Formats: sequence, C-alpha cells, structure tokens
Amino acid sequence: MNYPQILQDIAREVSSLYGQGKVADYIPELGKVSPRQFGFCLHTRDGQVFTHGDSDVKFSIQSISKVFTLSLVFAHLGEAMWKRVGVEPSGNAFNSLMQLEYEKGIPRNPLINAGALVVTDMLVSTFRDPKAEILRYLHLLSGSNDIQFNESVAESERKTGYRNFALGYFLKSFVNLENDVDQVLDVYFHQCSVEMSCKELAAAMQLFVHHGVEPNTQQRLLTMSQTKRLNAVMQTCGFYDEAGEFTFAVGLPGKSGVGGGIAALLPGHYSLAVWSPELNKKGNSVLGMKALELFTTMTGRSVF
Ligand code: GLN
Repeated sequence: MNYPQILQDIAREVSSLYGQGKVADYIPELGKVSPRQFGFCLHTRDGQVFTHGDSDVKFSIQSISKVFTLSLVFAHLGEAMWKRVGVEPSGNAFNSLMQLEYEKGIPRNPLINAGALVVTDMLVSTFRDPKAEILRYLHLLSGSNDIQFNESVAESERKTGYRNFALGYFLKSFVNLENDVDQVLDVYFHQCSVEMSCKELAAAMQLFVHHGVEPNTQQRLLTMSQTKRLNAVMQTCGFYDEAGEFTFAVGLPGKSGVGGGIAALLPGHYSLAVWSPELNKKGNSVLGMKALELFTTMTGRSVF
C-alpha cells in the first residue's frame, strides 16, 4: 500500500473543507488556535510511521484524554468500575445534564463528560498524585517525555466550565463521586489540557492495537478482554451523539476532542491520529472526520 501517496491525496481533498467548521471557543483559550491546520499520522502495528502536514504540532487533546484515564482506571479497578458508569451510547451532547437526571446519577458511558468525571474521581481515589500518574502513563504509552499540561487551558476551563461543575455536583448528589468536586474537576481540566502531536497520539494508541501490550516495553497493561471492551466503548461511544455517524462513515473505534483531534485504530493493524481545529456542530473535527473516512475507504481497511 502506498501510504505516503494516500495521505497526500487525502490532505488535498480535505483542504476544500476549510471554513465549514468553527474552532471551539467555549473554552476561551482554545479559541486562540489558528484554524487552517491539518496533521495526520498513521502508525502501523510493526512500528512504521507515516505522517502528513502538521503532524508534529501539539494541540489540546481535550476529550481524547478520557480514553487514557479510562484505560488507567480499568487496569487498576477491573470490572467493578462498571457499577458506577454504563457502556451504552448516549445519543446526547457530551455535556448533557438531562440524561444524568433520568439515569439517577449513573452516566451512560465513560466517554461523555459525566462518565469521564466518575472515571477521574476513581483515579483520584486510586493514586496519591493523579496528575503525575496521568503524565507518567502518557509518557510511557507515547514513548515521549515531552508531554505536559497546558496550565492556561486548564485555568481557562476552570474559570468557565460551569456545566462540568454542574455535572460534578449532580454526581455528588447521587453519591457517585467520592472526592471533592473541586479536586476532581481540577484533575479533569488538567487531563483535558494535555498537549500532544498527532505523532505522539498515534503512538499512544498502539496499546489498543496490540491488545493491551505496550509495544516499546512489551509490558502488558490491560488484559485482552479489557482491551476488547475499551475498543468497543470507543466504537460505540467515542463521538458523543455522532458515534453512529462516525461508525457509518469511518468504521473504526476512536475518540475525538474539541481541540480538533481524533485518535482511532484498527485493532491488530494500525492506529491513526488526525488533527484540524475546525469543528462541526457536534464538536468533531470536520477535516479530521473526512480524512479518516477517506483513509478507510481508499485502503479498504476498517473494522467492517
Ligand atoms: N474539556 C472539554 C469539556 O469538558 C472536553 C470536551 C470535548 O473534548 N468534547 O467540555
């Protein structure tokens, strides 16, 4: 397969979509990002890396971080964690309050904000220094120690994240948050503020390509069954109320973030990370989604 050519063709085709989406600005600091950027990285199972465009530029991974905190917590707590959070697609916006009321404080899944807050709460209960643990885990998975929080982005969200505070207090009222709301949100805003490049993100997703074995160190971090479950949750819940559309168009498990990044993978074969900051109405990258759709269509390689 001529991947460099495929990536070039994809980049050319998606460039016509600039201007169709909008950079997220509900977190004021994110609104400062220059919109016309596009990065793509393909990382194969055997460690070959193909890149295009702004694949070394670091961006705010935002909700993509939910996959990594989930993976960390699942490895430590195992199946017991599913008593506090479900595994059904939400069909609702990522920050919906309504659904949490209907479902009596048990969030639909760990990749919407309410569910991710419960996962972060578990992280806070499990580790003495949860923020350091998140960075340690990302350094291990990506093979790069140059991954940090962006304090201005975390602070910007702390000042304006009223809905996330509301979700936190709501969860607390249902006794589904063990720690203080402020403490859980501080960790959550920091995990969302992590900056990574497409290259680093595609490398970090290799854990899920290799069925739970981290390929650089050959450590098994998740069981086969846990990895299967995580990939399944990404497939069904990774794109909020556009999870069906993403499965339909792209056909890979993955996770998006409002920084404009999308990480995806074909278990046993490859991982991909794509980034372009302009988002559609559901909060997913316009160019990113199209690029992944073209990739699985042109290569004929998706889960389906
Ligand atoms: N930090 C963002 C929020 O909680 C993450 C949302 C996202 O990327 N979808 O609103």
